[in-house]
Amino acid sequence: MADAPGNGQNGNSSQSYELRLMTEEEFMAEDAAPPGILVTTFSKLLDAVNPAYNWGRRYSMWPMQFGLACCAIEFISQAASRYDFDRFGWGLTRASPRQADVMIVSGTVTKKMLPQIVRLYNQMAEPKYVISMGCCANGGGPFKEGYNVVSGIDQFLPVDVYIPGCPPTPQAFLHGLMKLQEKVDAERVQDVAWYRRGQTEEIPVPILGPDLIDPRQVPELQVALKAAEAERKAADEAAKLAAAAALAPALAALAAGQAQAGQAQGPAPTTGAETLPSGKPKPISGKVAKAMRERGLTPGVDPIPADLLPPGAGQGD
Ligand code: SF4
Repeated sequence: MADAPGNGQNGNSSQSYELRLMTEEEFMAEDAAPPGILVTTFSKLLDAVNPAYNWGRRYSMWPMQFGLACCAIEFISQAASRYDFDRFGWGLTRASPRQADVMIVSGTVTKKMLPQIVRLYNQMAEPKYVISMGCCANGGGPFKEGYNVVSGIDQFLPVDVYIPGCPPTPQAFLHGLMKLQEKVDAERVQDVAWYRRGQTEEIPVPILGPDLIDPRQVPELQVALKAAEAERKAADEAAKLAAAAALAPALAALAAGQAQAGQAQGPAPTTGAETLPSGKPKPISGKVAKAMRERGLTPGVDPIPADLLPPGAGQGD
């Protein structure tokens, strides 16, 4: 509380003033201010700044100087005298992303070009905007689902305005330009991201390999890869079990047949070379086994033919 000086008529009249800091809620809850008193909030003060701030920005948009395909020719034509987008303050196309305010994606976005586009976008300073010009940039256009074409730049960049057409007419382009101006006009200094604390996150640059990989999708891709690998292993195991089950009767029949044949032939001729002094069966050499297989015999089951025995074998040594 403070006493204000008197009005000078009687020399002793005084009026008290009160200085208070209020939150916006408290301010809104208060009754109207007394007449003659101007009250405001910081937010309202900034609202007075916003029109001038946005007016300056919407009439000084500098597009980035790049194009991707036929739509770029239409974009270039805007700079010529007939349409002359310099009337809107947009004519100063910049060769450096550091000095550009708006990226006009004009044309087919190929997978090979996309990493460069995203890198350029990341290099632009805030505030920055993206216009997607033409069907190709909007969703792939006539090349949608093509092996080398991205189905829309908005899968990677935040698009502010889409301009339809293949290619868009100059009038459509100017309409899109004005739509972006309207969007800029509606922004408030209090809300915009570039005056907030913390850095704006960069968009991860896609990796071009056999196909395009969005680094943001790597965790999901890894999970899907693991699931596919587990599925493949399970399918392999099941196939092996099924094959073993199908072969089991045939193997049993073969073994039974061999046993019958053995009984019919009597005991297998002993060679003396088939057992070791310890009494264990002597391993059949690879050469003998191969020769037996060539004759349709099973090594270890069928007796070794005499001509394959080493010299001196079968004489009890
Ligand atoms: S939208 Fe049409 S004119 Fe534009 S780049 Fe694609 S094919 Fe060319």
